[in-house]
Amino acid sequence: MTSKTALTSNARLIEVFSAIQGEGLNVGTRQIFIRFALCDLRCRFCDSAHTWVAPANCQVEKTPGLRDFEIHSNPVPLPILMEWVERQNLPGLHDSISLTGGEPLLHSTFLAQFLPEIRPATDLPVYLETGGHRPEQLAMILPYLDSVGMDLKLPTTSGESRWQEHAQFLQLCYKSVCEVFVKIIISQNTDPTELERAALLVAQVSPSIPIFLQPATPLESTNTPVLAPAPHQVLTWQALMKRFVKQVRVVPQTHKMLNQL
Ligand code: SF4
Repeated sequence: MTSKTALTSNARLIEVFSAIQGEGLNVGTRQIFIRFALCDLRCRFCDSAHTWVAPANCQVEKTPGLRDFEIHSNPVPLPILMEWVERQNLPGLHDSISLTGGEPLLHSTFLAQFLPEIRPATDLPVYLETGGHRPEQLAMILPYLDSVGMDLKLPTTSGESRWQEHAQFLQLCYKSVCEVFVKIIISQNTDPTELERAALLVAQVSPSIPIFLQPATPLESTNTPVLAPAPHQVLTWQALMKRFVKQVRVVPQTHKMLNQL
């Protein structure tokens, strides 16, 4: 891929902004978020349903953290996104760039061109947040990633079932030099046998891969309301999973507590 070809590539975006990561292994760190449009899953607990279709416009923060968004039209050419990210990259402010969505791997062709350019331009590590169900697309960009937060979707909680894809995806991450952790949303309806299956899936790749159990942020606006698990459920389920995997941490969405984006 020549640089000239790369510079003709476009992305469909929701927004670009600077914020505090509220989930998983990077919790509390400051990131430049690139939120991509489109998702091919329909998780019941989704708090980003506005990303499922690509909007005509996207919003971009002018000053990191000031929420002084300006509106631009989609799709966004690669050099323009480069400019936006470099503008966010004030010296020493950010710990990494977060590729989020939606499902960023639906943009793997774009990312395979964008990431080799943005890494040297910012000198920031790149973190991917993903549904963890597209191993082929992951393989296209894995050399340019530093860490991956892979969702493992439990059917009883999410309404999605992707066991085989998750296993392939996690194996790919583990074989690379990339840091990987697994995030599992739990609710009152979670079936513990699925948690056991998830723990075994992770342990078969490596029992040292950390799992983050994330109690669902309640969502009552859907046909199937999502309710946070009860305290005794969380304790029981963490103990169940720790029979197979060394690190099982329970961390809710802290950015919601902090009233962050
Ligand atoms: S994968 Fe993420 S963005 Fe897509 S439906 Fe599930 S929670 Fe929402």
